[in-house]
Amino acid sequence: MVENWDVIIVGAGTAGIPAAIFAGQRGAKVLLVDAADKIGGTLHLTTGQMSAAGTSLQKQLGISDNSNDHFDDVMRISENTADKDLVRLAVDNAAETFDWLMTNGFTPLDNHPVLGNAHEPYSERRYYWGPFGGISILDAITPLLDEQIASGNVVVSLRTKLKNIILNKKEVTGIEIQAEDGTNAIINGKNIVLSTGGYSSNPTLFKELSGPTLYWKGAYPFSNGEGLTIANNIGGILRGKENYLCGYGAILKNFDYPSEVTTRVISHPHLRLPWEIHVNVDGERFFQEDYDSVHVREKKLLEQDKLKAWIVFDDEILKESPPLLKDFSKEDMISFFSSHPMFYYANDLQSLANKSGINSEGLIKTIEEYNFNIENNHPDSFGRVHRPLKIEKPPFYSICTHGVSITSTVGLLVNSELNILKENGEPIGNLFAAGEILGSGQTMGKCSAGGMMLTPALTFGRLLGQKFLSW
Ligand SMILES: Cc1cc2nc3c(=O)[nH]c(=O)nc-3n(C[C@H](O)[C@H](O)[C@H](O)COP(=O)(O)OP(=O)(O)OC[C@H]3O[C@@H](n4cnc5c(N)ncnc54)[C@H](O)[C@@H]3O)c2cc1C
Repeated sequence: MVENWDVIIVGAGTAGIPAAIFAGQRGAKVLLVDAADKIGGTLHLTTGQMSAAGTSLQKQLGISDNSNDHFDDVMRISENTADKDLVRLAVDNAAETFDWLMTNGFTPLDNHPVLGNAHEPYSERRYYWGPFGGISILDAITPLLDEQIASGNVVVSLRTKLKNIILNKKEVTGIEIQAEDGTNAIINGKNIVLSTGGYSSNPTLFKELSGPTLYWKGAYPFSNGEGLTIANNIGGILRGKENYLCGYGAILKNFDYPSEVTTRVISHPHLRLPWEIHVNVDGERFFQEDYDSVHVREKKLLEQDKLKAWIVFDDEILKESPPLLKDFSKEDMISFFSSHPMFYYANDLQSLANKSGINSEGLIKTIEEYNFNIENNHPDSFGRVHRPLKIEKPPFYSICTHGVSITSTVGLLVNSELNILKENGEPIGNLFAAGEILGSGQTMGKCSAGGMMLTPALTFGRLLGQKFLSW
């Protein structure tokens, strides 16, 4: 066993694996530890959507793109809330990461790259993913890790948990780990990389750091924020709470938070124009339902109590409108009204509001006003144009939706060499971080910029292994 590793990488996931591969390729003796019983981390779950500008694939397809435009797009979409230095580092190096994946067997879907439409679209086609989400990426990089393991440069230790970081004055000398049988050991290393991911499987930490209740049980089970907490305990600064943002329109399986998500309402107007209205707990509408910006509705939802919104409609809308739920037919939806805790119906609006937990006076007033404006051909109070039907024919229906997020907004402050910084701005010598442990708020800001978690995680891991670590 090596007595003083050149590099100890904690977290064999999206960022940790490339860090180990590239450090191993440079001849470093690398220990890669992970609490789980397999490598891959969130790559097992992620949709795998990456963004990169100036890639070989774009060139082949005649798409003229560059990292400056990518940078401008991310800063525009995030309304300048993302960390400029980290976005710069990510986008300037994203093409090389993406090309590296493709050289090693990653194949995106046929029509890719695309602009993307689940979030605010990019101005150029630079958004790609493979047929199996994150697994398409894991399949490309695992053989490269295996090569380094075979060469003896990288040793992987699974079921091994980070318990502490050993700080000796200004330098980190190693880590304390705990094996599955509960025994602890100190391991010495010249460089320590924390790539332990986010905290979205830890409801207490999620509430403390991000603010809202953790509604969605969907993050990697080992995303408990342990690395982030340990680094914070030895002086690493956490930042980014102000960038918390949640996705719109999730239908949770039940109210036992965190819950799995049954499905989502299709609320993007370019996929389905709205026939229903969306109200808050006061029974009031709070945005223009046919406004073509995901970002605007997500931000408006942040202002609503408990991030909840109810989709309200009547029997005629149910019959006439196209399917409302992602991946479910209208018949499926109808069956949910007698079987699913988030679906309600009643013969009058007062009862519907009571069953749904919405203020009934507010709901009745909102629907009266909505109907009045349609009937009299008056403009909608929120400027909505698509108003095909009034809401007037019983039974009336509502669906409770929650604003959910699965990523961790808050993260460790680092410099542009990914060295973790202390309160006084000094780096904690030889302690580095990459991936979601930096917080989604740094590379995406207060928005969902397509691919701007996964690509930076892979890229920062690569850069650490390739450039930033010395031994
Ligand atoms: C469902 C889902 C879909 C997503 N889709 C996208 C997308 O399409 N595009 C995008 O940009 N982003 C997406 N994201 C976010 C993105 O995938 C993640 O931010 C990224 O994969 C995280 O990489 P990471 O290396 O930081 O963490 P991970 O890949 O989770 O790796 C962290 C590793 O650390 C280990 N670990 C944790 N604690 C310890 C400990 N104490 N000791 C030892 N090991 C530990 C874990 O077991 C894990 O293997 C998605 C996330 C989810 C959950």
